[in-house]
Amino acid sequence: MSVRPWRDIERRKSRQIMVGNVPVGGDAPIAVQSMTNTDTADAKATLEQIERIAEAGADIIRVSCPNEDSTAAMKEITKHSPVPIVADIHFHYKRGIEAAMNGAACLRINPGNIGSKERVAEVVQAAKDHGCSMRIGVNGGSLEKHLLEQYGEPCPEAMVESALYHANILEEHDFQDYKISVKASDVFLTVAAYHALAEATEAPLHLGITEAGGLMSGTIKSSIGLGNLLWAGIGDTIRVSLSAEPEEEIRVGFDILKSLGLRHRGVNVISCPSCARQGFDVIRTVEKLEKRLSHISTPMSLSVIGCVVNGPGEARETDIGFTGGGAEAGMLYLGGVPASKLKNEDMIDKLVALCEEKAAEIEAAQTAAE
Ligand code: SF4
Repeated sequence: MSVRPWRDIERRKSRQIMVGNVPVGGDAPIAVQSMTNTDTADAKATLEQIERIAEAGADIIRVSCPNEDSTAAMKEITKHSPVPIVADIHFHYKRGIEAAMNGAACLRINPGNIGSKERVAEVVQAAKDHGCSMRIGVNGGSLEKHLLEQYGEPCPEAMVESALYHANILEEHDFQDYKISVKASDVFLTVAAYHALAEATEAPLHLGITEAGGLMSGTIKSSIGLGNLLWAGIGDTIRVSLSAEPEEEIRVGFDILKSLGLRHRGVNVISCPSCARQGFDVIRTVEKLEKRLSHISTPMSLSVIGCVVNGPGEARETDIGFTGGGAEAGMLYLGGVPASKLKNEDMIDKLVALCEEKAAEIEAAQTAAE
């Protein structure tokens, strides 16, 4: 039995599919995704952005394929990308076939929108032939006309009906390697739609609040929407949609998962808001530390607390800790226990060095265990 049952999240049991070499669903870690915004036909620029997004921690990256030049560039892109690529296709079934042939690991395509049965069969066959999975992506803003007429407005029932309609088409073609999303820009609608969908299918679910907004407001909106669903155990892969650089979407995605204890990446910095009791400039210190620690992907925790009111308590729960004190120096904690006094002026360099050492230690232990 868990010692802390109040923090356990029981994940919904979904079937597992593969997006390239990344498992999605089942007991796989919740995969974090983003999307490029370069011209896909410019393979060089797209690959440079993919490198940056992957460096930030992306497990999967989506690339739009609006025309033939884009799907042609996919050959080069998928050949050199460090992570699996999802091709985003709307309406043009040929783009789907081309993307599958050119190395896409997954097609984001709604089979009900690509025309005749023959065309659907061709796309599904191409996906089967080239080991592609698919994502059915229902969006509250582009629901089928007959559903809007039937329900009067985008609502959870209409979104789920749309998703199951597309899913049934794939099932009729004996294709089960698909995941589903039912995104909307409204948090209530999105959450209700995913809850209903989770009851109606075993397919893995891709979560997102679409068109969430800029970095700050979009992060808040996504954290509430995705946080609510993830807390309920729903969600196998996430994309935080922000009007910001794709790398930011990855950072926010991991921060949401970290907050819920669902996935850990990099240094989890626990810091106080600071007040008149602070023994050093907490805000500026944390800003600098976050930048200097961003290259570490190994999960660990670091507490940086302004004074002894909360410092020792937080330090006890973290791998490395620093608590401000008097006389331009504070206390360094290692493994939860006081280790030595540390001057404020040396603190940032020392904490960075300790985190790097800890990362190397953990990685060496992991390699030895493999
Ligand atoms: S830990 Fe100390 S410095 Fe930080 S906010 Fe609390 S009382 Fe203020």
